[in-house]
Amino acid sequence: MTDLKATYEDVPEKFKYMAGRWLTSQIVCDEVPPRAHPLGPNNKVIFSPGIVTGSSAPTSGRISVGGKSPLTGTIKETNAGTGWGQSVAHLGIKAIIVEGQPKGKKFWLLHVTKDGTKFLPADEYTNMGLYEVYPKLFEKFGKKADICGIGVAGEFLMPNAGICFNDIDGRPSRFSGRGGMGAVLGSKGLKFIIVDDSGMPPSIPIANKELFDQGRKKLTDALMTHDITKPTGALNSYGTAVLINIMNEAGGLPTRNFREGRFEGAAKISGEAIFAGNKERLGKDLYNHNCSPGCIIKCSNVWHKPDGTEHVSCQEYESVWAFGANCDIDSLDATGELIRLCNDYGLDTIEAGGTMAVAMEGGLLPFGDSKKAIELMHEIGKGTPLGRLLGSGAVITGRALGVARVPAVKGQNMPAYEPRVVKGIGVTYATSTMGADHTAGYTIAPEILGVSGKVDPFIAMKAELSRNFQSSTGFIDTSGHCLFIAFAILDIASGFEGLVEECNGVLGVNWSADDWVNIGKGVIKMERQFNEAAGFTKAHDRVPEFMLYEKLPPHNTVFDVSEAELDKVYDF
Ligand code: SF4
Repeated sequence: MTDLKATYEDVPEKFKYMAGRWLTSQIVCDEVPPRAHPLGPNNKVIFSPGIVTGSSAPTSGRISVGGKSPLTGTIKETNAGTGWGQSVAHLGIKAIIVEGQPKGKKFWLLHVTKDGTKFLPADEYTNMGLYEVYPKLFEKFGKKADICGIGVAGEFLMPNAGICFNDIDGRPSRFSGRGGMGAVLGSKGLKFIIVDDSGMPPSIPIANKELFDQGRKKLTDALMTHDITKPTGALNSYGTAVLINIMNEAGGLPTRNFREGRFEGAAKISGEAIFAGNKERLGKDLYNHNCSPGCIIKCSNVWHKPDGTEHVSCQEYESVWAFGANCDIDSLDATGELIRLCNDYGLDTIEAGGTMAVAMEGGLLPFGDSKKAIELMHEIGKGTPLGRLLGSGAVITGRALGVARVPAVKGQNMPAYEPRVVKGIGVTYATSTMGADHTAGYTIAPEILGVSGKVDPFIAMKAELSRNFQSSTGFIDTSGHCLFIAFAILDIASGFEGLVEECNGVLGVNWSADDWVNIGKGVIKMERQFNEAAGFTKAHDRVPEFMLYEKLPPHNTVFDVSEAELDKVYDF
């Protein structure tokens, strides 16, 4: 970006088999000084589609985004489901590395097609919402284009700025949200990367087609039969918000800034309520859609206004919880509007909702006041001094307001699972290389959902469980599949075999399942080494102090995992 120059490089032999998170983290470790300022010239933003992304493998339209996070100061990999990554893969591009920094405050867009790359001025698209900008871009660059971009939060370099991709219908709604990577892109003056794969083959090259097809069939069969992932199954009917009632029942739905584990308004913001509300407003059942081409789980919903017009996509579990139970708000219309504003301004919903709850705790607005919460979101969008504070995330907002109870690890607000009730996810929050992140090692699967066996959520000895989930996730994030395939492949052995065969088929290798999980483990280890060199120690692998002494109703439990147990996660 220093000279506004885009160059193509051959893939070095070292990177031959790498893709997705494996590749983004490798390049960060190789090329970003661990002590670099995240918004300075030495940080980089790396985009890489997964190994099978761009093939016909089911539910594999993921793009990994890597760099050093301005929110956490750690390494970051944050992935999204979108056709953008598939288009990049179809163009034969293994990774896009954004580096350097231009002088001045201008914004640019990069247009990538089979004929090459072009930088164009993008200032005319700044200082406006993404719902206004994306249609303009599709009009200019054509409906076949896919868009990656930042909103005003990224322009303002806010630590909670995400990177936004279009969904299958062109909405600005799919985010690499966590960790502020939108601010890093903003610091480089790059507002959009627009990709068009017209004229390219519809699939990436596959070295062993027979093996790949065999794996694809096994994985497809598993996804189509598992109760959580099959058509009209839990995710397709109720979306990820199906978890609201489940977590509430378990007493682990963080409520009013993690003060309680049950929310009396849970049923009103549940996945079932989304389904029923849409049915009432549209006069028919509405099942969910796929966020990216080729996803057969189809968990992404569209919420409608009382008059039946579209309000927002998507009322995800995490987003509905962050602005709902965590803020004491029990209206889907209110959560829908708050999520829409996050999409419009380019913010991560988990951090934005967590920040709002901390602001409520700090007295900036009352718990449950959705009207004031919407006003404050507009402060973020306008970039006022108060908006800048709130756009900096929960930890900084908590510090400014004198709040002792900030549920964050390594600067990142916790997602929608209470670690005092579900101990394994607490171990993941504490030890993940990304800060508090449920997707880093989703132990909710066995601890709450009974997927791959049932593990008691209250038992504190969870280092091995979290380590195993973090390692497998390192593999899935490398493969390019959505993490939601995990439900089916953990329960159905042939589904996991299929995943391995697909990856081997694309690369032309014959690696075992253990080899792949070890690669996932190696990715975590490498990320951990980056964090250590950046100044992180075991002392940072801890949940906030209040969770050690404050008993959480209704189970009245504290986070009682010992420090020795937490430190065992990285005994490998
Ligand atoms: S399962 Fe849901 S989030 Fe994952 S790729 Fe499909 S629609 Fe997107």
